Amino acid sequence: MAKVVIVGDGPGGLSAALFLAKNGHDVTVYGQDKTAMHYAHVYNYLGLPEIAGTEFQRIAREQVTGFGARIVEDEVTSVGVDNGITVTTEGGMDHADYLILTEGKNPVLAASLGLVDTEGAGVPVDSAYRSKLDRVYVVGRSVRPTRSQAIISAGAGAVAAVDILAREEGKDVQDWDTPPKEP
Ligand SMILES: Cc1cc2nc3c(=O)[nH]c(=O)nc-3n(C[C@H](O)[C@H](O)[C@H](O)COP(=O)(O)OP(=O)(O)OC[C@H]3O[C@@H](n4cnc5c(N)ncnc54)[C@H](O)[C@@H]3O)c2cc1C
Repeated sequence: MAKVVIVGDGPGGLSAALFLAKNGHDVTVYGQDKTAMHYAHVYNYLGLPEIAGTEFQRIAREQVTGFGARIVEDEVTSVGVDNGITVTTEGGMDHADYLILTEGKNPVLAASLGLVDTEGAGVPVDSAYRSKLDRVYVVGRSVRPTRSQAIISAGAGAVAAVDILAREEGKDVQDWDTPPKEP
């Protein structure tokens, strides 16, 4: 079981948390429920004809904690990678095997790790949302600040999570489920 810390509790962070917690990993999400989703009324999320952003977040947070992830309502004040991955909040320090940064439009922590090449241009990542630092991922609006949609952030969180699942398994992983059998 890997310990994964996710900074940010918008659609990107919560989607990553869902996939990882559902597959048995130890997941902590840091965030204070201040996502831009609270300003949104969403008609463009496939499968959800219409939903208030706040209701979307309420369901997502319940879904994630239902699979065993922790949501800690602290702001992360710094992150480090020199002696393993560390995350500092006002409440203390946390350690992780993997870090997923999903800070939204202002990726201050990613910048502090040297991951921002050009201010305002988005954090460069590969197709699995790996940053240039080993075991550090960046997803969501931080990667595409001027082309940000909830479904894209959620998809990016899922991509990063499945990449971590595959790294831990040592082979490709499909998180597929089938309908319950009729009694
Ligand atoms: C007015 C408005 C309307 C919108 N309407 C739509 C719409 O109709 N459809 C649509 O698809 N999208 C819409 N959006 C965009 C949508 O809200 C974003 O695409 C989405 O929220 C991005 O998700 P994210 O997870 O990447 O980042 P965010 O949702 O921004 O989440 C980042 C989270 O990280 C937290 N955070 C940052 N730093 C720290 C830290 N150091 N410690 C702890 N937590 C931290 C933030 O507080 C925030 O909660 C709208 C946005 C706005 C502003």
